[in-house]
Amino acid sequence: MSENFKSTNELNSNNKKKRFKKFLIIEIIILCIIVGGYFYFTLIKSNSDKNTDNTGVDSGQVVGEADGDKNNGTITPEPTLTPEELEQQQKEQEQKELEEKINALIKDADALATVYDYDGAIEKIKSFDGDYLEQVALTSAIDGYEATKLTLDPLGAYDSVDQISHIFFHSLIADPSKAFDDDYKTNGYNYYMTTVGEFIGMMQQMYDDGYVLVSIHDVGKKVKGDDGTEKYVPGDIMLPPDKKPFVLSQDDVNYYEYMTGDGFARRIVIDENGRPSTEMILEDGTISVGDYDMVPVLETFLETHPDFSYKGARGILALTGYEGSMGYRTNDPSSPTYEQDKETVKNVAKVLKEWGWEFASHSYGHRDMGKATYTFTVKDTDRWMEEVGSLIGPTDVYIFPYGIDIETTLDHYSSDKFEYLKKLGFDYYCGVFKDPWIQVKTDYVRMTRRPLDGQAMLQFPERLKDLFDLSKIIDSTRPELK
Ligand SMILES: [Zn+2]
Repeated sequence: MSENFKSTNELNSNNKKKRFKKFLIIEIIILCIIVGGYFYFTLIKSNSDKNTDNTGVDSGQVVGEADGDKNNGTITPEPTLTPEELEQQQKEQEQKELEEKINALIKDADALATVYDYDGAIEKIKSFDGDYLEQVALTSAIDGYEATKLTLDPLGAYDSVDQISHIFFHSLIADPSKAFDDDYKTNGYNYYMTTVGEFIGMMQQMYDDGYVLVSIHDVGKKVKGDDGTEKYVPGDIMLPPDKKPFVLSQDDVNYYEYMTGDGFARRIVIDENGRPSTEMILEDGTISVGDYDMVPVLETFLETHPDFSYKGARGILALTGYEGSMGYRTNDPSSPTYEQDKETVKNVAKVLKEWGWEFASHSYGHRDMGKATYTFTVKDTDRWMEEVGSLIGPTDVYIFPYGIDIETTLDHYSSDKFEYLKKLGFDYYCGVFKDPWIQVKTDYVRMTRRPLDGQAMLQFPERLKDLFDLSKIIDSTRPELK
């Protein structure tokens, strides 16, 4: 063919054309081989697919069409696999998925074991979608949890619930320069408040010393007796032998008006990731969401120290009612955001509870409930139930304002005030005392709390010796107590 177009005076150019045509022909041949081969193998595969897929089905049926479409329609550069290879590939994929499923399950179970919930961890493994006994990784995980369980002791390093400290705080000072600015409130803050930095220092030292945060509901535990009646008994918190349980609470989580501008958070919020947090107005007027009080500060600490919490326990938040709750003025129906605030408080409380936080009544009006008459107690408590309890949900913990108990008796409560509070569902009563102290009666639990505020740190440092090395904790900007 190339001979016909041969020209004698343009030899160079002809040679080039020749080479190009040769090249073109070779290209076409290669292409034909590839395309032909492709269709050949596709046909074979399509047939073999039909044979495997349509076992027992009339060969005349069009069942294979979907498969054919898939094979013809896709221009996958991958080499076509034999049925055996396909089967092998599928098996490998299934094995990979199984391993991933098992690893995820063990990870979830380990998280439960980290917070000392070994039974929960074992249950988690047993919830495996399949026969867990056939999976060595799962049975050996259970063996591991069972073995660790055997090393646990009731109450860890303690012999009795009498030794358990219940520590408490007020709202933490996020900005000490504002709280301790020498105005008329400075001395009050110095007495009764703790800074965020001091709180973190305390939690770190307690963690290092083997303390583990537990729920008051595990310290004094409600059980059903043989006769079916409910009663309270000392709990059997199962911990490693060197661990020491403690309870945590925070009073007046209301962010009162008087604290505005003094370096405190202004309210509890749920942040954009669905995590409980706090909101604070910064110097320049902008609103910042972050670790400005105990709730988010502790959450952040637990992220890196998850074994600081027993079965996901958090603190108890004690609320009064006279200025609303958690920074929302839900006490004031004339507030333009009244209805909206009530809904927000409901949601914030719901999320806090999901994260393990508990609530307590701290009375409505923050009065001395020891001196209070029966009539006042009824009125005050009813109002709290109506305005606060209705938003945060039922609670059985009552934390006395100023730590003053409704009764001074060391025997069983006998006042009509107790009868009334008991009738409303309060079964845990908390006062204040320098040492751990608890009474577990059949029908209620009474537990005092140790303050960890400026007064305790500066005036009675010897009382905190068992808990901290205060020299590493006290904020250097804290003034002298006056
Ligand atoms: Zn209080």
